[in-house]
Amino acid sequence: MSDHKTRTKLVHGGTRRSQYGEVSEAIFLTQGFVYDTAEAAEARFLKAGEDEFIYARYGNPTVRMFEERIAGLEGAEDAFATASGMAAVSGALMSMLKAGDHVVSGRALFGSCLYVLEEVLTRFGVEVTFVDGTDLAAWKGAIRPDTTAVFLESISNPVLEVIDIAAVARLAHAVGAKVLVDNVFATPVFSRVMEQGADVVIYSATKHMDGQGRVLGGVILGDHEFIRKTVEPYLKHTGGAMSPFTAWILLKGLETMDLRCRAQAGSAQILAEALSGHKLLKRVIYPGLPSHPQHVVAQSQMEGGGTVLAIDIEGGQDAAFRFLNALKIFTISNNLGDAKSIVTHPATTTHQRLSDDQKVLLGISPGVVRISVGLEDSGDLVADIMAALEAV
Ligand SMILES: *Cc1c(COP(=O)(O)O)cnc(C)c1O
Repeated sequence: MSDHKTRTKLVHGGTRRSQYGEVSEAIFLTQGFVYDTAEAAEARFLKAGEDEFIYARYGNPTVRMFEERIAGLEGAEDAFATASGMAAVSGALMSMLKAGDHVVSGRALFGSCLYVLEEVLTRFGVEVTFVDGTDLAAWKGAIRPDTTAVFLESISNPVLEVIDIAAVARLAHAVGAKVLVDNVFATPVFSRVMEQGADVVIYSATKHMDGQGRVLGGVILGDHEFIRKTVEPYLKHTGGAMSPFTAWILLKGLETMDLRCRAQAGSAQILAEALSGHKLLKRVIYPGLPSHPQHVVAQSQMEGGGTVLAIDIEGGQDAAFRFLNALKIFTISNNLGDAKSIVTHPATTTHQRLSDDQKVLLGISPGVVRISVGLEDSGDLVADIMAALEAV
């Protein structure tokens, strides 16, 4: 599989067929596995072979297919699938860190990622320094000889700042720190963060991998040593395993992920261009627009601008709410990467927990609306947004 192109890998990677030779991947909806003899059980507990499983919390054939398919796409040696994106983020961090360790993290994070770094890790004696992810001097100043790990979202949520992964990785690797990247917004279709220096890549599979709003899932990708010696023991004993049914949904989702992401990003670019300069908008934020502050970095480390954009509407929260309520095609929700176009008002929902000061620091003003572009006709989407802006 490794010489094949993305689309081929997404359709065939990791496939395991049972003795029935099924075309579509089988769902092994079983929590356990039987052994022919007591000796066989003993041997498998000592060392399980490639096609040998013990208990679904440790691994399952359908889950393994998903892990191998996504590892093949990302060019990672190995992967561990989890119950949600947050099980992946917390599992990757908790499995490798201990009291006394120092972590440097970008400040603009998905709300739950911020909670894990700010509230959970620190409670266990891990020191965390937050920096403005787009400021290389800040990373340089914060990374110390004893820094264990750096954590960042390649494109931040919700205001889509793009972090220069290669530059941050160089600074981290100079002190022997591991680089963990949450790459949800950039997607594995448009970016190859391992080639840019990430040691560990984390996805919420809930987003583009499912892409049809059905299941929660996550995955951690890294080298074989890290996945099997650090991540697996932690996750198999703490219980963040992915269900076989979820793995099956995600295997089907991966088959169409490249097509979906390209279509959605194409429409996002069209929308961003159509909205640029609109008199009611203070800002149109999209990494694919030349006006984006990190457009050059975005172009160097990803193909296209992604499937999400953000706008900042004049008139604050009232205007933003009027806009949201006037949309006919876009639904008000908080998922992203879905076939259905979705709008979110971060200040009152996903980022409600933040203090006003933190919101100002992160650029989450009351007029900001995050737009996840789906698979509908791009002309219909532009018309819907323009009409809703009229209604404001
Ligand atoms: C959604 C998301 C997560 C969490 O994923 P869940 O599947 O909802 O647990 C983590 N990071 C980012 C950037 C996300 O968008």
